[in-house]
Amino acid sequence: MEDADQAHLELELSREHLLQAEKMAMVGKLAAGVAHSIRNPLTSVKMRLFSLNRSLELNDYQKEDFQVITEEIRHTDTIVQNFLEFARPPKLKMQLVSPSAVVDQTLQLLEHRLKSYDVDVQVNRKQPLPEIEIDPEQLKEVFVNLIENACEAMEQGGSIVITEETIPRPSNPAALIRLSDTGPGISESIREKLFEPFFTTKEEGTGLGLSIALRIVEEHQGRLDVTSKESQGTTFTITLPLKESGHE
Ligand code: ADP
Ligand code: MG
Repeated sequence: MEDADQAHLELELSREHLLQAEKMAMVGKLAAGVAHSIRNPLTSVKMRLFSLNRSLELNDYQKEDFQVITEEIRHTDTIVQNFLEFARPPKLKMQLVSPSAVVDQTLQLLEHRLKSYDVDVQVNRKQPLPEIEIDPEQLKEVFVNLIENACEAMEQGGSIVITEETIPRPSNPAALIRLSDTGPGISESIREKLFEPFFTTKEEGTGLGLSIALRIVEEHQGRLDVTSKESQGTTFTITLPLKESGHE
């Protein structure tokens, strides 16, 4: 009887999981559809705005309006990107690249955004991480999402420290990229939910950033860990395995 009860319980649980997975797949498809439809008009608005910016003589108030519009469009763009990314079929385009190069590209890409958040970034790197098989575009997405979160957490500005490290043999050789911020930290109570899709504490959040980041890192056979002390900032650590190769 007990076995039967147990089996019943397990069946019930797996049915729930299945339902949940189906729901997620549906939401994903729906979201991707909407995101797709929004993307084209949004791109067009963005381009026209930039060309207007070049031809108009704006006074200071108008310049501020313009700045806000630009920021809001960028925000919408990020949301759309995230939804598209969320519904993407899991496929990586692997290349032999040093993750350090991806870090540098990301920082270049985010230069203006970091400035507007008044966040400075320091990179601790003795030498670039070795080249490994990664999808640099996807990995960039991981860094963008983590840095974006850090910036949003540090409303009054602050700093991000990126530390790169290689773990040599005899333990599993790995490349480590650590991202620490000086934000408010993450309370124990929500730590478990962080990586769930659609979990957000922000009024305008999508809750997709970390779930996407985790998925991409796991697709690389890596790990994404978080440590945080409340009011002492947050550290996200990406661990990517270094494959055996002929030479070290
Ligand atoms: P979103 O940014 O849209 O809220 P994410 O998946 O990127 O979704 O993040 C989920 C939640 O994790 C955030 O709403 C926030 O509460 C928390 N979080 C993520 N990164 C940080 C960080 N660096 N500092 C504090 N809280 C964070
Ligand atoms: Mg986010």
